Amino acid sequence: MEKVLPALILAGADENIRADLENIFSDKYTIVEVCSEAECLDFIAGNSVKVVIVALFAQNFDAFEFIKNLAQNDRLKEIPIMAIIDHGDDEGASRALDLGAMEFFTRPPSRAIVRHRVHNVLARYENRRHRMEKTIKDKYLAELQNYIEIDSLTGLYRRDTFYKKAADLMHANPYVTYAIVYLDISCFKVINDLFHIETGNRILKATAEYFKRAINPQIGLCSRVEADHFILCIPQDTLNIDRLISELDITIHVLNISHNILFYAGVYIVTDISLPVDQMCDRASMALRKIKGHYVTRYAYYDASLRERMLKEQMIVRDMDFALKDNQFTIFLQPIYNSQTRKIVSAEALVRWFHPESGMISPGYFVPVFERNGFIVRLDRFVWEATCRFLRGQLDAGKSVVPVSVNVSRLNFYSFDLVIFLLNLIKKYNIEPWMLKLEVTESAYTDNPQQLASIIRQFKEIGFPVLMDDFGSGYSSLNMLKNLQFDVLKVDMAFVREIEQSERARKILRTIIELAEELGMGVVTEGVETQTQLDYITEMGDVDIQGYYFSKPLPVEDFKKLFDNQNS
Ligand code: C2E
Ligand code: CA
Ligand code: CA
Repeated sequence: MEKVLPALILAGADENIRADLENIFSDKYTIVEVCSEAECLDFIAGNSVKVVIVALFAQNFDAFEFIKNLAQNDRLKEIPIMAIIDHGDDEGASRALDLGAMEFFTRPPSRAIVRHRVHNVLARYENRRHRMEKTIKDKYLAELQNYIEIDSLTGLYRRDTFYKKAADLMHANPYVTYAIVYLDISCFKVINDLFHIETGNRILKATAEYFKRAINPQIGLCSRVEADHFILCIPQDTLNIDRLISELDITIHVLNISHNILFYAGVYIVTDISLPVDQMCDRASMALRKIKGHYVTRYAYYDASLRERMLKEQMIVRDMDFALKDNQFTIFLQPIYNSQTRKIVSAEALVRWFHPESGMISPGYFVPVFERNGFIVRLDRFVWEATCRFLRGQLDAGKSVVPVSVNVSRLNFYSFDLVIFLLNLIKKYNIEPWMLKLEVTESAYTDNPQQLASIIRQFKEIGFPVLMDDFGSGYSSLNMLKNLQFDVLKVDMAFVREIEQSERARKILRTIIELAEELGMGVVTEGVETQTQLDYITEMGDVDIQGYYFSKPLPVEDFKKLFDNQNS
């Protein structure tokens, strides 16, 4: 069977050119001559045509019109147009190219050039077609993808898409803290039953529209995960949960549905980014479950205690500087009694914070925060000075004084001027060093034993009594006791707490007291609350006692009164 070659259409050329081209392409194409656009299009409709070649010098039609019309015709989109020009007709060539021809050659056609150019034109066309096909394919895929990823009712992400996108978002922004908000509409099923399903859909759509407005897609995501459940993933600092819920209420309210529709939310602040997103959502949903059935509480945080602690800590850090300037800190004095004489022999100065909004905050809250951010150094110095001022006041009033102990938190040992500061303080208030006792805890020893030893030696040279605080509460108590010269051992409250129930605890406490006596140290037992505890301890030896049994820490004026009463 004879092979059917694809065609090159030739328009407006003469016999010679036609013969030349037939000759040049006899192995590849048949040459078909046409006299008009209509004829050209007719032929293209039924045959395989590769290129349309138009002679600019055509006699029986306007070659430029011809090119222009074909180039604009949809059916010729896939077929390139070439022009044949007279030698030197640059202007004609350029106009033909402008109108849509892709290439040209001069007459008479040279075999090498024409074959080459036709080949190039076809290659370029092929390329373009591929590109176009690819764009179409991509577009189609994108549409399909969209269909899979997006909930058709609301236009929000479906669950799985949300999980994936949220994970990507969080990993791309490791320094941003995200909040996962799980939202649920109260009694949605009732609404679907009571009203037409369309009403339910209106609520869902309005909700989705609100999220699209409220959440910047650059930084956050939202999803309808099922029925009437929505999940958001947004940076924590953009979340205002009260506002979110009240705006949702308004969004639904304007739909005028005669049923009270409320949103409830559970929030998980993403503290653990390694957690799979579905588990994060579970946590948020767990928080939501906590408030199911409470009609007033509209949202809950996962692990609220942790969050409250965080907020409290933020408040503490925010307010500390001002509080110090504003005299919100004061000292309380807790008297310390001797077990045998039952008289006040000493006291411990303990800091108190009277916050204008939060009231009195316990040092148990803020001291650990200040130990982390370094503010404790300034606060301790404030307490020491307040204590010296108190002592000076007593002396000026002609009262006798007992030594008062102050806490020296571990961070102080990093201040190069610690010893000088204390020395200047007693000079400034003209008090004697034995009046100010310094309590040091084991954590200072763990940090840097050598440095601590040297500073404690300097304290003792000056004449400050040094106490080891909370003895027995940590791992290094015995080492610290062995290596450093303390004047007094303060036995941790935990020992005292157990002596009523446990014979063993009594033996241990007795041994600690004996050990201290053996080493020539005084003993203070902290946390004595009951008569029984006191009796046991009194029987164990001549020790000092600090505890609620005798007195809680007191405002300075109350302490003065108590002290005066004793001495009168
Ligand atoms: P701490 O130095 O061991 O102080 C003793 C704590 O035990 C005080 O709590 C005191 O009120 C409490 N306490 C005394 N007797 C009893 C008792 O019989 N039963 C019970 N349950 N507790 C008793 P506070 O004043 O709340 O201080 C807690 C901790 O805060 C202190 O423990 C100390 O570590 C720190 N702190 C307090 N004031 C200062 C300060 O000015 N500077 C530094 N660095 N830390 C301070
Ligand atoms: Ca203490
Ligand atoms: Ca203590």
